Amino acid sequence: MKVAKFGGSSLASSDQVRKVVNIIKDDPARRYIVVSAPGKRHSDDIKVTDLLISLHDKLIAGKDPSRLIEAIYNRYEEIGQAFHVDAHILTAIREDLEKLRMLETKGNEHLYDIILSRGEDNNARLIAGVLKAEGLKARYISPKEIGMYVTDEPKNARILNKAYPIIHKWAKNPDILVIPGFFGITEEGNICTFSRGGSDITGAIIAAGMNAELYENFTDVNGIYSAHPGIIHEPELIKEISYREMRELAYAGFSVFHDEALIPSFQAKIPVVIKNTNNPTHPGTQIVHEKHKHEKTVVGIASDGGFSMIYISKYLMNREVGFTLRVLQILKDFDIKYEHMPSGIDDISIILRANQLTEETEEELLRKIAYEIDPDELRIKHNITMVVVVGEGMREKVGVTAESTAALARKKINIEMINQGSSEVSIMFGIQDKDEKAAIRSLYYTFFD
Ligand code: ASP
Repeated sequence: MKVAKFGGSSLASSDQVRKVVNIIKDDPARRYIVVSAPGKRHSDDIKVTDLLISLHDKLIAGKDPSRLIEAIYNRYEEIGQAFHVDAHILTAIREDLEKLRMLETKGNEHLYDIILSRGEDNNARLIAGVLKAEGLKARYISPKEIGMYVTDEPKNARILNKAYPIIHKWAKNPDILVIPGFFGITEEGNICTFSRGGSDITGAIIAAGMNAELYENFTDVNGIYSAHPGIIHEPELIKEISYREMRELAYAGFSVFHDEALIPSFQAKIPVVIKNTNNPTHPGTQIVHEKHKHEKTVVGIASDGGFSMIYISKYLMNREVGFTLRVLQILKDFDIKYEHMPSGIDDISIILRANQLTEETEEELLRKIAYEIDPDELRIKHNITMVVVVGEGMREKVGVTAESTAALARKKINIEMINQGSSEVSIMFGIQDKDEKAAIRSLYYTFFD
C-alpha cells in the first residue's frame, strides 16, 4: 500500500488534476492520497494558501474579503465543474469560505491556522468528489477522524506520538482516503498547521502511521537535483539519496521536500520517492534509509543565505570552565537560536539566522557578551551564506575538504568558517553572500562532470 501526496502545482487546475486522477488509477496500491491546496497555474499566479493569507489580513483589518472569497472559490469551481462533481460539494466549499467572515479576530490565536487550513481541507473534499465522479471508491477524511493529533503551536505544529496508533487503525481501509495536508488537530480540538509547505509532513506521518511500503511525493520536477538549477545549467538528477544526506541538503535550501517530513519516514524506515506529476513514468529520486553503495562521493551542493556570525576570542578560553555555557545563556536570555558553533582554542564563532536580530537586539546582545565574557575580541559579520557539500561517500574518501577549499580558492572566495560535523556527511562553509553563485559553480564542477 502506498501513500501519495500531491503538491499544489499538481492540483492547480483541472488539467493538472486529470494527470493526478490517471496516476491514482494507474496503481491500485495508491490508497492514501494527501493533498495540498491548489497552487500556481503559471509563474505569476497566486497559490490558494497565499490568497488565504490575504484574506486573513483583510479580516484583521476589518475590510471586506468578498473578492478574495470569490477568487478562492473560483479555483475550486473550475476543477469541480470540469469533472462534474456532485453539486453539493461546490456549494459546501462556498459556504465554508463564506463562514470565514464570522470568525472572531480578536484574541483568537488559531485564526491564521483555521483560515489557512481551508485551502487543503476544501481541496481534499473536492478531490474525493473528483475521484468518485471518475468511478473510484474514494472518500474525504478529516485530520481529526484519521487521528492527526498535533501540538498546540500555531503555524508550527508537530505531530504527537499518540497519533500514530490511531492513524494505523485506518490501515485496512478498503477505500481510497483523501486526506488534507498541512494541518492537524490539537488535543483541545483546535486547528494547527505545520510550517509552510507542510503537506509533505502530513504525507510522511500518514505513511509512517500506515506502515506503507512507499511514500510517493508528487511535485513538478523530475526529482532532486545535485545543485540548484537556477545556478547550475542542467545539474545532475540524484537517483538515490539517504535520509541523512537529504536532511543536510533540505536544511540548506533544497526545498523540493520539507525537511521536517524526513523524520517520520526515517523513524518508520519508509522509503520516499520524489516524482513528477507531469512526467510520472520518470523514476524520480529515491530517499532511502541505507544506500546500496555510494556511487558518488558528493551527492549534492546547496546553499542558504541570511546568516550572521558572532566571533568571540579570548586568550586561554580553553582553560575557562563554563565559557561556552555563559555565551549560550546570553543567547537564551535573548531567545535567540543558533545554528552552528565552530570553535578554536581561543575563540568561537556563533552562526545564527539574521532574521532573529534587530539593530537594537544586536547592540544589546553584543553589549551583554562584552560585559559578561570580557573577550579580547568581539565582532559580528552579516550577509553570510552557508554552502554545504553533502555525501556519505566522503567518509571513505580522503581529500574532499582539500578539493572543496581549493575550488573556493580558485575563485578567490574567502572562507569565513568551515564546519565538518563528526558524522562526516557534509562539510559546511560560511562565505559572503556575494560569492554564493561562484562558490556553488566552482564546487559543482569539481565534483560533477
Ligand atoms: N499549502 C501550504 C503552503 O503553501 C502547504 C503545502 O502546500 O504543503 O504552504
